[in-house]
Amino acid sequence: MRSKSKLPHLSPDEFRKQGRQVIDLIADYMENVESYPVLSQVAPKDIYNQLPPNPPIHGEPFENVMEDVNRIILPGLTHWQSPNFFAYFPTHASGPSILGDLLSSGFGIQGMLWSTSPACTELETLVLDWMVEIAGLPQRFRSSSTGGGVIQDSASSASLCAIVAARERILQRHSNIASSSLIAYVSGHTHSSVEKGLKIAGIESSQIRRIDTDENFAMLPFSLKKAIQADQQNGSVPFFVCATMGTTSSLAFDPLPEIGEIANAENLWFHVDGAHAGSAAVCPEFRWILSGLETADSYCFNPHKWLLTNFDCDLLYVADRNALVDALTFSPEYLKNKASESGEVYDYNGWQISLGRRFRSLKLWFVIRHYGVEGLRVHIRMHCQLATEFANWIEVDNEFELFQPPILNLVLFHHKAGNKATQSILESLNQSGKLFLTHTVLNDTYVIRFSIGAIWTEKVHVEAAWNQIKLAASGIDHQSP
Ligand code: PLP
Repeated sequence: MRSKSKLPHLSPDEFRKQGRQVIDLIADYMENVESYPVLSQVAPKDIYNQLPPNPPIHGEPFENVMEDVNRIILPGLTHWQSPNFFAYFPTHASGPSILGDLLSSGFGIQGMLWSTSPACTELETLVLDWMVEIAGLPQRFRSSSTGGGVIQDSASSASLCAIVAARERILQRHSNIASSSLIAYVSGHTHSSVEKGLKIAGIESSQIRRIDTDENFAMLPFSLKKAIQADQQNGSVPFFVCATMGTTSSLAFDPLPEIGEIANAENLWFHVDGAHAGSAAVCPEFRWILSGLETADSYCFNPHKWLLTNFDCDLLYVADRNALVDALTFSPEYLKNKASESGEVYDYNGWQISLGRRFRSLKLWFVIRHYGVEGLRVHIRMHCQLATEFANWIEVDNEFELFQPPILNLVLFHHKAGNKATQSILESLNQSGKLFLTHTVLNDTYVIRFSIGAIWTEKVHVEAAWNQIKLAASGIDHQSP
């Protein structure tokens, strides 16, 4: 069949040959990633202008495409896998995960229904049940209980699903209320994706309350309670609260037990966003972060950030799967099938926004089987240990100071000469290409975030980064405010 096609499909042998070149390129990339400038040095439109403005009418040899990848695409990358990447929160591309992802592409299945690939659904259920055990999560998130887990592309999508389920639950319970009277609660440090999700779900900004935070940037439960009471007195209907387990700016932990107690008492949907920090719970000594999670209706964290798994892989857990499925399931005639109608299977399209879904559990399964639970723990512990060591150097330094004690793998610090000095040090470091750091502003202080979590980062890289930081500080104008 294949040989008679008029199209230049790759034969299995050609695929093998070209595939090996791609695998070789990835392996070379892993080997050499440290030698590239971490932050891409190209100017806007550099990449666009180097490529032909019109698409090829006839297919081109594979070699030409690979040459452009090396010559044009590679210099346009910021190297998230570099051991000198200390910006944002990390994102991982480990070998087993890349291979699992490749297999998912190769199988090319659509896992929207159980029947469209039973293995896709069942492996996902199994791996998410495993993760309840691996990360010490509440038992009600297991598929054998009332809840369950599902893989989303991102924490943003997970929050949106939780918001829609929350909205449907309250509107079903009280058929006489308008969605314009619903009120959601976040803090000033909640990730912007939650407010974006609320907006997409039709919750206007006038329906969102940003609750005050304490000196550690954690939500104040007392202020939450007061805001809920005030809204109730005005005839509004509180329906959703999001607490963060490790905020993006400073890894602040909202007090889950207190927020959960309030949410449960007032029948609000309680969502917990643990996008980055959630991975730390694979280590028993960091499970303090989970305290109060048993009161949550939903919880998400991203193995694609800190658990050796390629983007995209966010895990969303719910305590009551029916609430999610009721909100997001549609069953048009063309999707009907016996397995779905038997009620014995999960159709994960009803647990997410889109219909179609990739076989994402393969990569997480590969990662867990390759590293084992103990390997995952070693990985997390190493980054936290390096963060502590880095913070110790700052503590005794005469030019820099810690903004707060290190939390897990994040160190916040600034130059004693002030905001302008700190900012120019950060800019000169990033221009050097030797490392990449990002910043935040907290209490009017411009702070450098040193986030240790890239997969190849070792002590030598953290030491080299510290030397670079000291060098950059020696070049600044100390008189600037
Ligand atoms: N929530 C928190 C606390 C985050 O730190 C981030 C990203 O860094 C997000 C949500 C958004 O994650 P995603 O890119 O998976 O939507």
